[in-house]
Formats: sequence, C-alpha cells, structure tokens
Amino acid sequence: MTIRSLVWFRGKELRVSDHAPLATAARDGEVIPVFVLDPYFFAPERARRLPHRMQFLLESLTSLEQNLAHLGSRLVVVAGKSLDVIPRLAEAWRVDRVLSQRWTEPFGRERDRRIAAALPVPFERLDGETLLPPATLRTGGGTPYSVFTPFARAFAGHAGDVAAPLAAPRALPPLPSDVSCPDAVAIPGLSDLGIRGNPQLVKGGEAAAKGRLRAFLRGPFSTYQDGRNRIDAGGTSRLSADLKFGTISVRAIWNAVRGSQAAERAPNSWRVFENQIVWREFAHATLWDRPELLETPFRRAFTGFPWRDDEDDWHAWVAGTTGYPVVDAAARQLLGEGFVHNRARMIAASFLAKQLMIDFRRGEAHYLEYLVDGDWANNDMGWQWSAGCGCDAQPYFRIFNPTLQGERFDPDGNYVRRWVPELARVPARYIHRPWEAPHPVLEAAGVKLGTTYPKPRVNHTAARDRFLRVAEGHLGSRS
Ligand SMILES: Cc1cc2nc3c(=O)[nH]c(=O)nc-3n(C[C@H](O)[C@H](O)[C@H](O)COP(=O)(O)OP(=O)(O)OC[C@H]3O[C@@H](n4cnc5c(N)ncnc54)[C@H](O)[C@@H]3O)c2cc1C
Repeated sequence: MTIRSLVWFRGKELRVSDHAPLATAARDGEVIPVFVLDPYFFAPERARRLPHRMQFLLESLTSLEQNLAHLGSRLVVVAGKSLDVIPRLAEAWRVDRVLSQRWTEPFGRERDRRIAAALPVPFERLDGETLLPPATLRTGGGTPYSVFTPFARAFAGHAGDVAAPLAAPRALPPLPSDVSCPDAVAIPGLSDLGIRGNPQLVKGGEAAAKGRLRAFLRGPFSTYQDGRNRIDAGGTSRLSADLKFGTISVRAIWNAVRGSQAAERAPNSWRVFENQIVWREFAHATLWDRPELLETPFRRAFTGFPWRDDEDDWHAWVAGTTGYPVVDAAARQLLGEGFVHNRARMIAASFLAKQLMIDFRRGEAHYLEYLVDGDWANNDMGWQWSAGCGCDAQPYFRIFNPTLQGERFDPDGNYVRRWVPELARVPARYIHRPWEAPHPVLEAAGVKLGTTYPKPRVNHTAARDRFLRVAEGHLGSRS
C-alpha cells in the first residue's frame, strides 16, 4: 500500500542526504516536502535580529529546493504559524503521516508536542540531530551524566550503534496530482527581510557543506590535534554552522572522517576531533535532560549571583573596545563574520563573566544573535562552562589571563592584526599588552593609547581578585 507522507523540513535538517524522514517517505510512497516560513523566525523584525543565521538559512533553503527539484520533487514553501499550517495541509492533502527530524531544544519539543496533538494523523519524529538519540547514555544509577569524561567513555561503548548514513534518494516521485498549494510562496530574499548580505559569512547549502568537509580532510585535519587551538590559523573544520542547520548530518561527518585515509595517517587528530563531536553530543544530551538550563545555571549555588549592571563595560565588550586585544578581536570577529574561534570564545566569555562580572546570559544571548552557528545546546554549554557554573565547567576560580592566552594561542598577533587593525603595526612582543609598550614603539606603530585604541578597561589582577572575592562570598554561603 502506498503511504502519503508530508515531510516537514525545519531549520536543522536542510539536506537530502542522510535525511531519515525523506528516505522513509520515499521508500513508502508519495512524498510532499514542506517548509514553513513561521513568523516566529521569519517576521522581518525577528529575522533582522538574526542576520547571520538568516543568511545561511536562506542559502541552505535555496540549495534544498534545488536538490529536491533535481530529484524530481518540489519543496512547498508556505508562510504562517507551523501550528496552523501543518495540520491544515495534512488534512487538505489527506496525508497518512507527517515526518520530521526530532529537535533537542525545549521550545521545539513543545511546538512539536502541540502540533502532534493538533494533527489528525501520526507525527513521526525521527532521530538525526545527534549521533546517538538523546537519553541513550545513562550513569550506572540511571541518571543523565553531568561530567564529560564518563559521558565520553559511555559514548565510546555505544559508538558501534551509530548506523551508517543513508544515501540521498536516487529519485523522488513528483507531488501527487491532487495536491494543490495555492498559498505556496517563494523563498524570501535577504532584502525582503530587511537584511543586508554579508559576504564574509560561510556559505550555506549541502554542496558547500560537503566541500568544507573535503577541504578539512585535505588540509587542516592532519594537524588538528594541536592546530585547533591556534586562534590565528584556520586549523578547524568550520563545520559548526552545517551541523547547526543540518546541511550535512553529524553522522555523515563522523563516518567520513573516521573512515578516511587522513584519520589513518593522523590518528591523534581523529581522536581529538571525535572528542569535539562528543562534546556536541554531551551538550545536546544535557539540554534534552535539563531544558531548564536555558534559564538557570547548572550549579544552583550561582542563582542570584550579584552580576554587575555596567552598561559601559557591556558596550565595550560588544564593540571590541575593552583594551584587551584578543578579547576585542573576538568581539569584532563575531560582528564581522558571525564566527569566533573556540579558544577566542572561551577567552571572551570568561572575560565578560569574570573580569567584567557581567551576567553570562547577556553574552550568551548576544552570541546567539550573531553567530552563524548559534546553537542553543552548544552555546549554553559554552557560556556556562566559561562562567564556571555549568555541567563539568571550568572551576569558577580558574580565570583566564587574556594577555597570556593571546600570547600563547596567537603568538605572532596575526588574529589581533586582522580584527583590530589599529594595532596592526605593533610588534608581536607588545601586541597583546600594548599598554606596556614604550612610547616610541607605540608612536612608530601609529598607536595613541586612549585615543586610537583604548587603555584596558580593568586591571586583570584587580578584576580577578574582585570576582574571586564576590564568588567566594556568594558561593561559600550556599554550599
Ligand atoms: C562561549 C562559547 C559559545 C559557544 N557557542 C557555540 C554555538 O552557539 N554553536 C556551536 O556550534 N558551538 C558553540 N561553541 C563551541 C565551539 O566554539 C564551536 O563549535 C567551534 O568553535 C566551531 O568551530 P569548528 O566547526 O571549526 O569546530 P571544530 O573544532 O572543527 O569542531 C567540529 C565540531 O564539533 C563541535 N564542537 C566543537 N567544540 C565544541 C564544544 N566545545 N562544544 C560543543 N560542540 C563542539 C561543533 O559542532 C564543531 O563544528 C561555543 C563555545 C564557547 C566557549
């Protein structure tokens, strides 16, 4: 018997390869691919608040539309609230079921629960966002993990359960002849949403994602083990936005890297890369089990922490004018290309939460606004880790010194030179500590501290001591 499926694509599964809902629908009969332009994301005033992600998403959606057309089908794009549109179309088209990929985020789960309740047919949500379905790994006591190392050990024990990726269907049936969609619309352009395109962002779409994976394996992968920490070099995969939007599946990446000659030649790089992918699994598993973390710190003793409301410090951190070059470079890279190197994210986040003592949730929201890869699970884990209040976080009393971090991971200062051009001519010896440079050195570099580039907003040692004093007072009384 032929089954008619509405395959509902959302912003986490924008591909035709290794797409379980599409493969299942194609196997069983008629396929109607749908994408909903929900005003929750696509109302211009909301879309404009996510300019970078929106650009990547629209490019990926266009690529999906082309790939589906190439296979013989058609992506039906409809504007409206998902909760209204999906049940209405399911009924009008007399589908037998709706198929989608399961989401980890609490609000996506709630949306899906409500849609399932409103649908006259089953709503099947298939796994695919992570290598192992959330809630697979449990401690001996049956509880979710809260420490990464035992989680990673448990993952290793289940790695054999990760199935091979599914091939894209060779062909898809055309839309059934009785399916009409008078309210179908075109994919909007960026300008329709009032967003100016940014050529510095990574390009969206399935082909671009596959190209990035190939380039990573041909290039930076061989030295990934150490190179991943160098802020000044492109030593990582840059696949984070693809993983966020599902332009390639995590399973496809994991299998391709694991089985590659590159991994055979550089087993340590494979080990370290796999570890990063498992951090992603950990972040998603954690959010699945503890959805409240988007609102509250994992370490409850942090509740009510006396964060500072200092608007000048906040704006300096956002604009990249704190006077700490590596922190400023990270801020400007975020605004410029919607990406920040992992090490620079850690330094900048730690600086905001600890040296400036500003609520990490403000930084978390700012990152979510401008990162192309802005992802609820990974971003929340990264911020709570940096602030010292998360699952298996950096202890609150370990405070990065941004000068030493810069010197270690950007030794020639090239990252700073690129993003803080007013320091471009400062010699490497002083580029991470321009306030210590002798006057003639600064003059020769065209820098006037306090005029062309700010003096440090805070003294690192004094700011560190302030945080420790406040944190010990607050946490001590609660533990
Ligand atoms: C404050 C802070 C905020 C962050 N916000 C995000 C975010 O919104 N979205 C996001 O994808 N990552 C986030 N990360 C994690 C990490 O910085 C990025 O995944 C990484 O920099 C992306 O670059 P890449 O793809 O070249 O990474 P690679 O080094 O090539 O790693 C491969 C993949 O592994 C995953 N990964 C790597 N490191 C981590 C990690 N620490 N935690 C979880 N997954 C990881 C990512 O999916 C990444 O694409 C954040 C980290 C911090 C400290």
